[in-house]
Amino acid sequence: MQLDVARLKRSPGESARYELAVDLPPQAFSGEEIIFAGPLRADLVVSNTGKILTVEGMAGGKLELSCSRCLQHFIYDYKVPIDEKYALPQEEENNEELQAFTGDYIDITPAVINSIFLALPMKALCTEGCQGLCSVCGSNLNENSCGCAGEEIDPRLSVLKELLKKDDK
Ligand SMILES: [Zn+2]
Ligand SMILES: [Zn+2]
Repeated sequence: MQLDVARLKRSPGESARYELAVDLPPQAFSGEEIIFAGPLRADLVVSNTGKILTVEGMAGGKLELSCSRCLQHFIYDYKVPIDEKYALPQEEENNEELQAFTGDYIDITPAVINSIFLALPMKALCTEGCQGLCSVCGSNLNENSCGCAGEEIDPRLSVLKELLKKDDK
């Protein structure tokens, strides 16, 4: 995702709008693979403040994630704000908040992917009420209820159940 800033970088006070759509290959993220289900679209405004180039706007699209409860793949819509700052070549100080670029193009892809990763849910769920997998037989409880339902799985709970039974007498 390249932004052509050849003219803008020589024009202090000017802004330009960029509308982009790119297909991205799968990205590795904390041990998992993030699959883009369709193009990543970005609507960005790049401004030359005289000292730096700011890139602001939104990026959005669809990802294929796997549900942390039932492990099924599902489509996840994302929309993330983009707010990046790039040092103009002549202003390149050792400012850690600024990213550097050389030539006439800013490659915004790493910053956009990073913003998407930051916005991803810690535990992705296919639906809010996903029933997950049966911890006994492994069937997907969203699709069918297996015979295990109702069985106590946690031994601590069965102890509690015994205690409650005793109380009943
Ligand atoms: Zn699920
Ligand atoms: Zn089961």
